[in-house]
Amino acid sequence: MNYAEKFESQKEFFYSMKTRDVSFRIAQLKKLKDILKANEALLYDAIYRDFRKSKFDTYANELNIIYTEIDYFIKNIGKLSQAKKVTINLANIPGKSYICYEPLGTVLIIGAWNYPYQLTIAPIVSAIASGNTCFIKPSELPIHTMQLMAKLINENFPANYLYVVEGGIPETTELLALPFDKIFFTGSPKVGKIVYEAAAKHLTPVVLELGGKSPAIVTKSADLDIAAKRIVWGKFINGGQTCIAPDYLLVEASVKERLVQNIQKKLKECAYEPGAEHYVSIINERNFDRILQLIAPEKVVYGGKSDKSLLYIEPTIMDNVDWQDPAMQEEIFGPVLPIITFTDLDQVLEKVKRLEKPLAAYLFSNDPSEKEKFNKELSFGGGCINDTVMHITHERLPFGGVGNSGMGNYHGKFGFLTFSHQKSIIEKSLKFETNLKYPPYSDAKLNWIKRLIVERLWLKLF
Ligand code: NAD
Repeated sequence: MNYAEKFESQKEFFYSMKTRDVSFRIAQLKKLKDILKANEALLYDAIYRDFRKSKFDTYANELNIIYTEIDYFIKNIGKLSQAKKVTINLANIPGKSYICYEPLGTVLIIGAWNYPYQLTIAPIVSAIASGNTCFIKPSELPIHTMQLMAKLINENFPANYLYVVEGGIPETTELLALPFDKIFFTGSPKVGKIVYEAAAKHLTPVVLELGGKSPAIVTKSADLDIAAKRIVWGKFINGGQTCIAPDYLLVEASVKERLVQNIQKKLKECAYEPGAEHYVSIINERNFDRILQLIAPEKVVYGGKSDKSLLYIEPTIMDNVDWQDPAMQEEIFGPVLPIITFTDLDQVLEKVKRLEKPLAAYLFSNDPSEKEKFNKELSFGGGCINDTVMHITHERLPFGGVGNSGMGNYHGKFGFLTFSHQKSIIEKSLKFETNLKYPPYSDAKLNWIKRLIVERLWLKLF
């Protein structure tokens, strides 16, 4: 398909200035929310058919985040989009200075499959709130959710404003050739590089929301009961297919046995059995086979069972794992938790900070000095102390990666900034003019400039 015509029509609609109007943006956000609310039953059905994600999981971890974002913008977009006054500087007195927030234009959003609604629609919400027109390419792996998002958006919004493209690599490649004003990509670092390279041809700015191996560190000062509970929840939610799931566990040797026992107990309580309503399937056979290859049977201390016909992999804990093991060479993105033991937190932080910067990191500790070290020494997208995953739920925190886990961020006002240009304006008074900056130059003028700047004489004058 040739998308160039639709792209041009979105640019034209953008130039019409209609999307600049804040009341237009609020109306679109309300409309989007109404459409999602009215079609919740279809949304639940599609995602269940794709990978058996339950209604509870879909509401709590997908729709809830989208609704929170929509409500945030409906309430705050008026204020966010107003020009912000900034104190004038010496060189421009008398005058005013302010920052204008302007939409970028026509943007492209490319989604990942694991939270197909949240990861596709939350960036759309930011793009609408900021006044852009938008092409959307959801992941093609969960085919029913992709088709449903295309239907709901394409049937309810004009294509010159929002347009969903259904498809995989060929369609994405074609889209990437267009000169978008921004590309917002969620997916793997490998495809992130392809997107970045394509964007460079048009100097298109990108947000890359990528992945990586996110550690959870448990020290001897931690509350082991709570740690086990929160690690199990964060790791096995969505069948372990969460970009910010704890990928692996680093546990202080003296508490490892108790922590592993607590994790095993918690896993039994959770009963992630084949066919359980609350346990999401692996997305496809390719990922099923890939995840199984990361399991070393001799290291399994819990789980290890699987059923390809159901795309089911039992929550699996591997103990005595080594940094060289296959499970430590790639992002697991499945329900397998390797455990590495340590005796010295400083040493383990030294090791982790030399690895690729992960999307998330977690520390379980009750020791203020350990918390301080964790915050200070490790670089990662975002994370929690004494919890996992929950930082994504806070709309006042930026969500994004760093280094190999990505660039840029969104959620709440950070999403607004991501899809806006901050235009700087100086508005000068006509009442007063010094001749200091104009030629011909002289030593006297230079001395005045030095006195004004270095001796801050201007503070005394005004
Ligand atoms: P992916 O990179 O395989 O696919 C993402 C998107 O890119 C899809 O829409 C796909 O159609 C498209 N795509 C795939 N190959 C392409 C190619 N060669 N050229 C152009 N487009 C292509 O990622 P995925 O399997 O959907 O998701 C898993 C990865 O995403 C993991 O690394 C995970 O950590 C990461 N992720 C990150 C976040 C985040 O918010 N940072 C969220 C979810 C997933």
